[in-house]
Amino acid sequence: MTTMESLIGMVNRIQRACTVLGDHGGADSALPTLWEALPSVAVVGGQSSGKSSVLESIVGRDFLPRGSGIVTRRPLVLQLHKTEDGQQEYAEFLHLPKRKFNDFSLVRKEIADDTERITGRSKQISPVPIHLSIYSPNVVNLTLIDLPGLTKVAVEGQPDSIVQDIENMVRSYVEKPNCIILAISPANQDIATSDAIKLAREVDPSGERTFGVLTKLDLMDKGTNALDVLEGRSYRLQHPWVGIVNRSQADINKNVDMIVARQKERDYFATSPDYSHLSSKMGSEYLAKLLSKHLESVIRARIPSITSLISKTIEELESEMDHLGRPIAVDAGAQLYTILELCRAFDKIFKEHLDGGRPGGDRIYGVFDNQLPMALKKLPFDRHLSVQNVRKVVSEADGYQPHLIAPEQGYRRLIEGALSYFRGPAEASVDAVHLVLKDLVRKSIGETQELKRFPTLQSEIAAASYQSLERFREDGKKTVARLVDMEASYLTVEFFRNLPQEVDKGGNTASSTVDRYTEGHFRRIASNVSSYIGMVSETLRLSIPKAAVHCQVREAKRSLLNLFYTQVGRKEGKQLGLLLDEDPALMERRVQCAKRLELYKSARDEIEAVSWAR
Ligand code: GDP
Ligand code: MG
Repeated sequence: MTTMESLIGMVNRIQRACTVLGDHGGADSALPTLWEALPSVAVVGGQSSGKSSVLESIVGRDFLPRGSGIVTRRPLVLQLHKTEDGQQEYAEFLHLPKRKFNDFSLVRKEIADDTERITGRSKQISPVPIHLSIYSPNVVNLTLIDLPGLTKVAVEGQPDSIVQDIENMVRSYVEKPNCIILAISPANQDIATSDAIKLAREVDPSGERTFGVLTKLDLMDKGTNALDVLEGRSYRLQHPWVGIVNRSQADINKNVDMIVARQKERDYFATSPDYSHLSSKMGSEYLAKLLSKHLESVIRARIPSITSLISKTIEELESEMDHLGRPIAVDAGAQLYTILELCRAFDKIFKEHLDGGRPGGDRIYGVFDNQLPMALKKLPFDRHLSVQNVRKVVSEADGYQPHLIAPEQGYRRLIEGALSYFRGPAEASVDAVHLVLKDLVRKSIGETQELKRFPTLQSEIAAASYQSLERFREDGKKTVARLVDMEASYLTVEFFRNLPQEVDKGGNTASSTVDRYTEGHFRRIASNVSSYIGMVSETLRLSIPKAAVHCQVREAKRSLLNLFYTQVGRKEGKQLGLLLDEDPALMERRVQCAKRLELYKSARDEIEAVSWAR
């Protein structure tokens, strides 16, 4: 007895968890469904076949909404819990967990209200179930699902699709192999026209999970009986047919008590000349017991496969969760920690690029080894040191008094003029290093797996890094400009001291005065300046890379993210959260997976608890 209660109770609890955690079965999401694996009993039949009446007499209470048209527009999962004799009966809705209903007419009202909350006033139907638990000494443990009645035509106010919609919804329940079908047919109609039997036959041709219920036996024409059906001759099922006599509309109008109605039903079968020989296997009380026993055996048989399904699904969901990444913490401290961790991961990859663990750092050497020497070589010194220009510069420097020995001012001007050409290649090297660094930042962000989830954080890290690189570039430019300026501000004295003296060449100082202004004289000046410039060029070729590495590469390695850290440090909790906003689709998927995982884990606990109890 305890086993039976605990098994059905376990399924009840798992079913409730399914609804709370959004598992209504069916193709509503790309998530695995547990709902579909659980055995259940679904009530199907045409409109007014007596479905609600059967449910109520199984419960022994009046609590279902009544009226004409489609009253049941959402599945009603009715979980019956047997309590100790003498205990007060009450009902409870899953969506109103704190409230105990003692008045069953309020239960009826709440079913109608909650149906409307989901479907709106339009006569739409919805697959989201209402869960109702009834605790009573007069019930057996059982879970029944009341479904909208099958109809043939849409009536006023209903969309034309309703006939098909209802059939689809009902079918989605009864086609599951775990669904026990309670097929309700009225006895005052030919069984061959029964909607319930028609559908049951389609989804369960062998009849192994269909229970045939024949209502309205009392309404059959005088002189006829339903023995052909009840004894399985009209339509054979694996389980015996059960005949029922519910309250008539007149009884309902007169408020005939359900307990009285049950007694009347018992009397009907006991005294009926047609059915008295079957009376122990007829009536709603018998039906309830039969179903409960059957449900229990189905659950018992299914436990091993449900258990293995649960373990398999937990594994799958956990691996997907790993893939999606853990959910982000909500408190600011943990968020800050997460952001800093992500920065560290990015920074590590960036450094690997520079230090050679990953490709790209070699392009900086390429700038120094190739681009810079080429640019230096291409500087237009030939033009600057043409005889014509040398003559012009030297003469201008001399002024009204031509130089007597070496044109000191002329040399200075020629050299200063030449040195200014070095600024171009020097700055270009800094720019080229800058571009490589920028590209490596971009690459490193793309390669930081952990950052993939956070597009906002990615772009903020990139922006702050670019801003830092920009500062390093400024500094690099200033430094290389200074190297060039330094060359201009103090010339290497030794170079000039070591130049051969022109005067010695002619042997005669006086006669060489004129010579000083010939082409050969200017050519010699050009050649001297050219070799001085060559020397400076060599110095700069070696010192510009040092400056670029010092100001840009080394700084990038040391303090690329310092700016970002200051920015993050100034942010409040909420802004930190914004940095960690993920792709919404991904977030949604994680929430869904987490919920489903919770469901499967709680189901596993439920089953384990029952297994221990056995
Ligand atoms: P549903 O639409 O399938 O839920 O059918 P209901 O349970 O609302 O029943 C429709 C009507 O048939 C109601 O007026 C019931 O009182 C009446 N009814 C249902 N079962 C029986 C029965 O066994 N005998 C009699 N006399 N009336 C019944
Ligand atoms: Mg009904």
